[in-house]
Amino acid sequence: MAERTKQDGVEEKKIVCWASPGCIHQCGLIATVKDGKLIGLRGNKDYPTPNHGCSDRMPYHPNWLYSPDQLLHPLKRKGERGENRWEQIPWEQALDEIAAKLEDLKERYGPETLTVQEGTYRSDMYPMRTRFLNLFGNPSNIGCAGTICRCNTVAMNYALLGMTNARPKLPNINCLVIDGCALGQTAPLDFQRLQKRKAQGDLKLIVIDPRKTEAGRFADIWVQLRPGTDTALFMGWINVIIEEGLYDKEFVEEWTFGFDELRRRAAEYTPEKVAEITWVPPEVIRASARMYATNWPAGFHWGSATDMLGRNSVRVEQTRVCLRAITGNLKVGGGETIVGPGPIVDGKIGIRDSMLTLPEKVSPEQRKKQLGCDRFRLMGWPGYELMAKYHEETYGIPFPVAAHNFVAVQPLIWKAILEKDPYPVTAMITWGSNFLLNGGDVKTMYKAIKSPNLELHVVLEHFMTPTALLADYVLPIASKLEKPMCATHEDFAPNIACSEAAVEPLGERHGDFHVWKGLAERLGFGEYFPWTTEEELADFRLAPLGLTFKEVATEKYFVRSDEPWTYETINPRTGKKTGFATPSGKAELYSNILEQLGYDPLPFYEEPPESPISTPEVAKEYPYILITGGNFRPMFHSENRHWGIGTREQYPDPVMDINIETARELGIGEGDWVYVETLRGVIRQRATLTDEIDPRVVNVQSHWWFPERPAREPWLHGLWESNCNVLTIADDPDTFDQITGGWPLRALLCKIYKDPAPAG
Ligand code: SF4
Repeated sequence: MAERTKQDGVEEKKIVCWASPGCIHQCGLIATVKDGKLIGLRGNKDYPTPNHGCSDRMPYHPNWLYSPDQLLHPLKRKGERGENRWEQIPWEQALDEIAAKLEDLKERYGPETLTVQEGTYRSDMYPMRTRFLNLFGNPSNIGCAGTICRCNTVAMNYALLGMTNARPKLPNINCLVIDGCALGQTAPLDFQRLQKRKAQGDLKLIVIDPRKTEAGRFADIWVQLRPGTDTALFMGWINVIIEEGLYDKEFVEEWTFGFDELRRRAAEYTPEKVAEITWVPPEVIRASARMYATNWPAGFHWGSATDMLGRNSVRVEQTRVCLRAITGNLKVGGGETIVGPGPIVDGKIGIRDSMLTLPEKVSPEQRKKQLGCDRFRLMGWPGYELMAKYHEETYGIPFPVAAHNFVAVQPLIWKAILEKDPYPVTAMITWGSNFLLNGGDVKTMYKAIKSPNLELHVVLEHFMTPTALLADYVLPIASKLEKPMCATHEDFAPNIACSEAAVEPLGERHGDFHVWKGLAERLGFGEYFPWTTEEELADFRLAPLGLTFKEVATEKYFVRSDEPWTYETINPRTGKKTGFATPSGKAELYSNILEQLGYDPLPFYEEPPESPISTPEVAKEYPYILITGGNFRPMFHSENRHWGIGTREQYPDPVMDINIETARELGIGEGDWVYVETLRGVIRQRATLTDEIDPRVVNVQSHWWFPERPAREPWLHGLWESNCNVLTIADDPDTFDQITGGWPLRALLCKIYKDPAPAG
C-alpha cells in the first residue's frame, strides 16, 4: 500500500497538480494535510515524470483553496442576470429544477437546444460530459476553447497521421523549434530543462515569434515573422528542404503519401516570395530550414498562438506535420514519435475516455444538426466519422479519437441563441470556463447570454467569475485538490493516470461527476451512470488491466503500455506492420481525409482575414498588427486574478508591449495607460516599452478581469476594461479557419493612443 504518515492529525497524500489551480505540467506532488486542511505541497520525487512542482504557483495553492471568495453553496439567481443577487439553495433542489427545465426545453425545441461550454482541461470528466450529451440526444453542441487551442491541431494530426504526435523529448533531440509559444511563461519546467540542455552546447534552438521571448534570447536563430504568416514560413522551409535534398528519402519513399504533390505545391513558396509575406529575410528562411533538417532528430514545441489565427490557422499544423514526416522525425526514436492507442498490458486495454462516450446513441439525423459541422467539417461529426473508420480499420479497436475532439463552432452557438438560426439554442451548461474572457468577440457573447432566448444558463465554478454572474444557477464545484482523478487526458496519451484528492471538498462542493450523474438520473438515463463515486468509475476503467484506482493513484501513478504501439509494430490482427491509421496507411502529405471532406488536400498560405494586405482600408486607420493572448505566469488563463492568494500581488495591472520607437512617436512612456482599439472595441493596459518587438506590432496580455471591481452590472468585475477579447473577431464565419471553425484572436489590426486621464 501507499506510504503514508498520520501523526498528530497530519497525513500526506500523493496528488497530481493540473489546471485549476495548477497548469499544464501535471506535476506529481505530496500534499501535507493537517486535520483535514491542506497546509503545504512539495514535489513527489518518486513520480515517474520529471515534473515535480514549481516555485511560482504551487506554494500559493493553499491560499487559492482557502480564499474567502471560493463558492461553497449552490446559488439560484434572484432578479435579472448580472444583478448579482442570489439565493442559496440545496443541491437536490438545484438539480431537480435544472433537470426539469432541460426536459421542458428538450420537449419544446428538441435535444439540440442544449449547449455545453468549457475551457482548458479543468476536469477528468470530459467523457461523462459527452456520455450525458449523447444520451440526451444532443449533436455535441459543445463550445470549446480547444477550437482555438490545440484540439484543432490534434484533429489535423489524426487526419494526416491517424494519431496525434508525441511531444519531442528534450534529452533525445538535437534541434528544437518553438513556434508561437512563450515557453518561459506557459511551461516553466520545460523552459528550465531547455536552459539546462542549451547550456550543454549541443542543442540547436530556433524560436519563431514576432516577439523576442525568453527562449528567443538564447536561440541560435530567432525568426521574427509577421504575425499570422507561419504557414508561409513553413512552406518556405519545405521548399528549401526538398530543393536542397535535405529530406529523409527512405522514410518518404516507404511511409509517406503524396510527396510529389507536396513538392509541386512547395515550389510556389521560394524563400524570396516567403520573405515578402513574412518579413523574414530569405537567408534566415534558408538557414532556419537547414538547421531544422540537418540536426535530426528535431521537434516542435507545442504552442497555441497559431491555433488562434482564424482563417488558415490549422494549415500551420499541416505544414508542421509535413515537415516532421519528410525529415524522418516521425520515426521511432526520433523527435516526435507517433504512438497508437493504449494502455495495453498483457494484450488487454484499459478503458479510454472515448470508450465511455456512447457515440452510437446519436442518430445520423441528429449528428447533422451539430452547429457548424456542415461548413467546418474536420472537428465535427463528418471528420469524426471518417477518422473513426480508419482508426478502427487499422487498430481493430472500436474507439477512434479523443472524446473532446468533435465539437461545434462556438460563435455559431451565440448566433443560434440570438437569431434562432438554424434552430433555437435555449439551454447552456458552462463548466470550467470563463468564456467571456477566453472566447472571441465579448459583445456578441454577452448579448447571447443576456438574451431571453437563453432560458437556462447553469455555471459550474470555483469562483464567481464574470461569466458566472450571468447565470441562473451557479453550482460550486470541487477543484483538483478536492477530488480524485483518473484520465487518459482527453485521449492525448496512451496511458491512464490517477491521482488522489488532497482534501475533502470545501463547503457543499462536489466533483462535476455529481452533476452529470445527478442530471442523468433525473432525466431518465441514470442506468448509464451506475458508478456512485469517481473512484468506482476509475476502478471500472482499470478493471480490464487487473488494477484498482487506489493502487494506481498511490503506487504506480500511470499505467502505460508494455510496448508503445507504433506504425512499425506488427499488428496482431494482420501480422504486418501497423502503419498509419489513414486511408493510405501512410503519413499523408496529401491528405485523403481533407479531400474527402471537400478541402484542398495540400497545405497553402492565406492572408489573415484582417491585415495590411487583406484589408488595406482598415489598415489606414488601424495601422498596427495586434497580438492578443499573451499568457504570463503565475496566472493560468483567466485564473489566479484574486488578491490575497499571492499571485495577483505580483501583477496588479495588465501590461502590453510596444516598441520603443513607436511609443516615442505616439508620446507614450513606460507604465502609461494606453488605449488599444480595433473595429470591435477598445480596452486599456499599461505600456511596457521594448526593442524586442517589431515597431509595427503590439502585444497585449490576455484574460484580464478584476475581482476587486464591483460584481454587478455594468462592471461585471471589470469585464470590459482590459479584456483582449473585446478586440477580437468571432461574428463572421468567413474569417474562421475553414476546416475547423477556429476564430481569429491574433494578427488583427489596431490603433493605440495614450490614456489622457491615467488616474481615472
Ligand atoms: S502549477 Fe506548478 S506544480 Fe502545478 S502543475 Fe503547474 S508547474 Fe506543476
